[in-house]
Amino acid sequence: MNDLIFIQPVFHEKLWGGRRLESDYGYELPDGLVGECWAISAHPNGDCHIVGGAWDGCTLSELWADHRELFGGLEGEQFPLLIKILDAQDDLSIQVHPNDDYAYEHENGSLGKRECWYILDAKEGGDIVVGQRAQDRDEFAQMVDEGRWDDLLNKVPIARGDFFQIDPGTVHAILGGTLVLETQQSSDVTYRVYDFDRRQPDGSLRELHIAQALDVVDFSVKAPESGTVTAPEVDGVTHLVETPNYAVDRVVVAPDAPVTYAQPWPFLNVSVVEGSGSVTAGGTTFELPKGTHFIAPVDSGDLAFAGDMQLIVSHV
Ligand code: ZN
Repeated sequence: MNDLIFIQPVFHEKLWGGRRLESDYGYELPDGLVGECWAISAHPNGDCHIVGGAWDGCTLSELWADHRELFGGLEGEQFPLLIKILDAQDDLSIQVHPNDDYAYEHENGSLGKRECWYILDAKEGGDIVVGQRAQDRDEFAQMVDEGRWDDLLNKVPIARGDFFQIDPGTVHAILGGTLVLETQQSSDVTYRVYDFDRRQPDGSLRELHIAQALDVVDFSVKAPESGTVTAPEVDGVTHLVETPNYAVDRVVVAPDAPVTYAQPWPFLNVSVVEGSGSVTAGGTTFELPKGTHFIAPVDSGDLAFAGDMQLIVSHV
């Protein structure tokens, strides 16, 4: 049996961030505007430490490199997934990510970035950008050139509990007043299309990457009209998405409805996004306050959840 592996998040200051990761999730934050909590990450730009247990103080990348048996012997140079909570007090830039092939060739062997968003909170009348309306590269370039953002970008109204799958090549932006749990490939490659002409504290503009964006935008993708989850909830579990890189579930645990979640995968990422409770695995029980993140390694046994909480769970 392998013990659960609890993870210490890494925080990133962002121009568009806020303080809700402290007020809503109880994290101890550095000063300033904090936009991103890298909750489960072995990426070099934010490599999380393990807290407690046999691997206390190790980084997740060290575990991946030296103890691949914990991950069922999965292949790959890098731990494949990255889990974030984003606090967008202000709008994120309009952006697009490459697929694996393009990133490998143009970004030093990096992974591409497929990502998905579970909306933890949204302001009244809030929306989000997913998809675009140009027919082809020329039209996209022209609309960007003329600054016709309202014509180009597909905006979708959002509410708490919505879910969006963002494939590589899909133009997107999380907009102000939104808290998001993001499950993504472990990649930090972003091509910025538009940044609202915002200036950084030092007065400079953030770099745009229009040429790369034109290379990677997928003009065949149909833009969604809504993020409402239509999949059924069965015994507390809703399958949100399954892609070649990850599958993501929402698990709802209630006082009169504990949930046992099977763990047959090489590893599982688990994040407590609402409420609190406990998990029992391999005969040991751990408390799960809101904002806890852990990995259930291979052979951890099934996870018996109790309490009053919502979890987002993912696996490859
Ligand atoms: Zn993105």
